[in-house]
Amino acid sequence: GAGSKTVKDYIRTIVDFPHEGIMFRDVTTLFADPRGFRMAVDQMLHPYAGSRIDKVVGLEARGFIIGGAIAHQLSTGFVPIRKKGKLPGPTISEEYQLEYGEAVMEIHDDAIAPGEKVLLVDDLLATGGTAEAGIKLVERLGGEIVGCAFIVDLPDLGGRRRLEAMGMDVHALCA
Ligand code: IMP
Repeated sequence: GAGSKTVKDYIRTIVDFPHEGIMFRDVTTLFADPRGFRMAVDQMLHPYAGSRIDKVVGLEARGFIIGGAIAHQLSTGFVPIRKKGKLPGPTISEEYQLEYGEAVMEIHDDAIAPGEKVLLVDDLLATGGTAEAGIKLVERLGGEIVGCAFIVDLPDLGGRRRLEAMGMDVHALCA
């Protein structure tokens, strides 16, 4: 029954999206399910029970959905990291490599105060390039990353090793 389903059971895989050869992990089916969504939020928080967290930082776009819910549950603030040109106020930015070309992520320059404890969240960890850019942005503002939490880790793509090599505590709910 529904009581024995795991987070992974709510995630759907879409073949050949956004292009041929890609198996896209679609977490919208997890978010759409009331039990699945709460289970994901609760499990992502669990390793940090008892840790001081001042801000949850979410990566565009699915990191906003899960990160907003986690921030609400922890009674912390929520801070978005967005793709270049989307944030209205003064920002700092980090460029990073994609499979083809490069991308830029931004954070408002006053969104984190020096010394604040931050939980970084996103839906999925692949190469770790997006999360690394997010970590650098938070650290440039003086924030201290308590942990990096993901719903899915694709271990073959090396993201976990990359973030752990930066000294990060990495947690994911499933592979
Ligand atoms: P990375 O930078 O290579 O680690 O890729 C992670 C980023 O790409 C995250 O922001 C994810 O939301 C997105 N991403 C990559 N592959 C998938 C997928 O299969 N499903 C959902 N998001 C993905």
